[in-house]
Amino acid sequence: MKKNIILMGPPASGKGTVAKKLQSTFHLSHISTGDMFRDAKSAGTELGLLAATYMDRGDLVPDEVTIGVVKERFSKGDLGDGFLLDGFPRTIDQAEALKGFTDGTPLAVDAVINLDCDEEELVRRISGRRVCRNCGAPYHIETMKPKVEGVCDICGGELYQRADDNEEALRVRLSHYYESTQPLLEYYDKLGLLKNFESEVGADVLYEEIVKFLSE
Ligand code: ADP
Ligand code: ZN
Repeated sequence: MKKNIILMGPPASGKGTVAKKLQSTFHLSHISTGDMFRDAKSAGTELGLLAATYMDRGDLVPDEVTIGVVKERFSKGDLGDGFLLDGFPRTIDQAEALKGFTDGTPLAVDAVINLDCDEEELVRRISGRRVCRNCGAPYHIETMKPKVEGVCDICGGELYQRADDNEEALRVRLSHYYESTQPLLEYYDKLGLLKNFESEVGADVLYEEIVKFLSE
């Protein structure tokens, strides 16, 4: 079973949805840098205020800040049976840093899952996306409705629209994705870790395909 996993793909390609499902089934820790920054923002910490100035307009938080946050999370240890990194690494420098503190340890990356999705579909998903303020679970106002409008099925938390889930910030996020993050696919392919999936097959089929791959 592959258990130390990186999830990659453009914004709204389905990383968070897949991570939430895998997390509960396989006792893996979901480490989402986006969620960590949003939590810090709502807690009003120094880190949160700094991150928000980048995040809200769709820009990347500087590498040294992001790497520090992830390194600290890894050093805490309590990762369950493995991890699902969601939204990290997003640059080659972040990938090199991760390699530096995990290679040769039980935390070495086993697989990189890339979720492909075309741009029109990403825009549609982002404009209707709602997220739980409490647990970060993602919903969509048309295609992934909660049982009760505005309320998280999992934890009862309030659903809200992220400050960066608008078309303008999405364009910025996509440009960073193509420029800084997409080159990582080649990086991980060379390391023999990359596996591509088509995200548009639908959440349930996609999830089954991923579980099959992780079990191989
Ligand atoms: P997305 O839906 O775009 O995948 P995330 O929740 O992963 O969103 O990230 C939201 C924002 O948090 C990013 O646009 C960026 O500002 C910041 N962020 C998250 N992860 C990273 C990272 N690895 N490096 C730099 N910035 C990050
Ligand atoms: Zn919730």
